[in-house]
Amino acid sequence: MSEESLKGIEKQVEKTIREYKLLRKSDKVVVALSGGKDSTSVIYILKKLGYDVHGLLIDLYLGEWSKIHNEKMTAFCETNDIPLTIVDLKKELGQGICFIKAVLKKQKNLTGCTVCGIIKRWILNKWAKKLGADKLVTGHNLDDEAQNVLMNFLKGNVLLGVNSSPATGGVEVEGFAQRVKPLFFVPESEIMKYAKSHNFDILYDKCPCAFGTYRVETRGWMNDISDSQKLKIVEGFQELVPSLRKENKTSVVKCKSCGEPSRSEVCNFCKIVSNI
Ligand code: AMP
Ligand code: ZN
Repeated sequence: MSEESLKGIEKQVEKTIREYKLLRKSDKVVVALSGGKDSTSVIYILKKLGYDVHGLLIDLYLGEWSKIHNEKMTAFCETNDIPLTIVDLKKELGQGICFIKAVLKKQKNLTGCTVCGIIKRWILNKWAKKLGADKLVTGHNLDDEAQNVLMNFLKGNVLLGVNSSPATGGVEVEGFAQRVKPLFFVPESEIMKYAKSHNFDILYDKCPCAFGTYRVETRGWMNDISDSQKLKIVEGFQELVPSLRKENKTSVVKCKSCGEPSRSEVCNFCKIVSNI
């Protein structure tokens, strides 16, 4: 990848941060690290741009896969002088992710990446607050966002995307670290090239649990769509978001049960985890 293209991604990240007021130089920025190319690249770029970053990785207990991710991220953060916190899922919830997913499948017929997403989000919010974060960064990229638009459309519920933005929910809420996505407009293919050009010593595989899900199916359909078309889908939807929000106001409140951020009285995490 040419020097210019590498700089292009960094410039796009800077532009998104500036236009959506994602981060301030005085912010404590906690970056959710999965160990994959997206979150590794975003923390590397933010550090390079001079932000005060701190890595946060949840050990999900996915066998060898998690073990390798933990080791590689520990080494990466040491090399790049980035503080890292690894949260142990078994200490948090008493079980690894496979057991939790198996119980929820049996008891509630909940499947796929949704369960994992709800659990990860809850732990990341909780730990971001513990670490004193002003912002919580994730590595979601343009492909993820284009998939969301399409998935919501195919579910017949475009409104599910009402909070879609590089600054999730579009608002800062007192007491919570706002979740932000600096790679919102950067295609996955570009991030892959960026990570490989920098020889990041990480795992480039997809999560071994993510198979047979609606998201994986959607990703498959989108293989034939070009990056510029994905950008049009995402930018086009972003133009609709303000009017969707005007008509469908949602607010973030403290979950009645756990005190973490929620859009209903009881958060999704508490709704599902009371079953484990
Ligand atoms: P995924 O849901 O796996 O597509 O991941 C989306 C984003 O969530 C990643 O780019 C990370 O920022 C964050 N993330 C995923 N898995 C983890 C994890 N095990 N620990 C911390 N953050 C994670
Ligand atoms: Zn809750």
